[in-house]
Amino acid sequence: MGYLFPVSEIFESIQGEGNRAGLRCLFVRFQFCNLTCTWCDTKYTWLKESGSFKWYLPAELKGIIRQKGIKEVVFTGGEPTLFSLDQLVDPEFNYHVETNGTVIPTLPIEVQLPDGTMIKREAMNKNTIERFNWVVSPKLSNSRQKINVDSLKYWVGRDFSTFKFICSNDADIQEVQQIADDYNIDKNRVYIGLEGVSQKSQLKPEMVDKIVEQGFNFSPRLHILLWGATRKK
Ligand code: SF4
Repeated sequence: MGYLFPVSEIFESIQGEGNRAGLRCLFVRFQFCNLTCTWCDTKYTWLKESGSFKWYLPAELKGIIRQKGIKEVVFTGGEPTLFSLDQLVDPEFNYHVETNGTVIPTLPIEVQLPDGTMIKREAMNKNTIERFNWVVSPKLSNSRQKINVDSLKYWVGRDFSTFKFICSNDADIQEVQQIADDYNIDKNRVYIGLEGVSQKSQLKPEMVDKIVEQGFNFSPRLHILLWGATRKK
C-alpha cells in the first residue's frame, strides 16, 4: 500500500494565532499526537474512539490540497511532524506547520504513541522543510507534559521557526521567561496567547500588558474570539 497520511479534517479558515494571524489558509489536520496535554482542544485527534479520520496516499492528499486552490496551507494536528510532510509539497504553495516542538523533522522516527499506535517515517528533506513557516508550541507545566530538550534546542537553532506559548496567568508568563532564558530564545521570536475557549478568556488587557512589558509578542486567538470552541474554525 505504501506510505499513508492519517487526516482528521481539511477545512478553510483564517489562521487564528501566531505570526500569520488573519491569513486565509487551508488547514490539514492530522490524526494522532505523541503528547496528551490536559487542556488539549483537539482531543478528537488522539483520544481513541473519540474521532474519525481517513488514510490518504501522498499523491491523493497532495491532489486534494491542490484542488482547493488556497496557496497558504497549514499542517496541524494532532502532531503533524509525525508524518512525512515533505512529500506533500507543491512548489507554488506556502506551508505553515503547527508543532508541539518535541519531534525533529530531519531525523527518522519510529515511535509508539500513548494510545499504542506505531508511527514510522523517514527523515524529512532538509531543504524542503526549511521553506516552511514553523510555529513551535512547547507545552508549559500546566499541560502536564515535559519539554524535549534536544528538539527544543534544534528549533531554537532554526531561524525559520517562531515560538508560541499559551498562558493562563502570570506564573505561566514567568515560565515562558524562564524557558527563553534557559534556551537563549530571542523574545522577538516568541508569541504568547491567552488560554481558554470563551471570548471572555481572550479579552484580558492586563495579561497582554504583562506580555508586552516582558518583551514578548502577543498572539491573538482570533478563531476563539470569533467562533469560540467551534470545530473547523
Ligand atoms: S501537543 Fe497539541 S494536539 Fe497534542 S495533546 Fe498537546 S495540545 Fe493536543
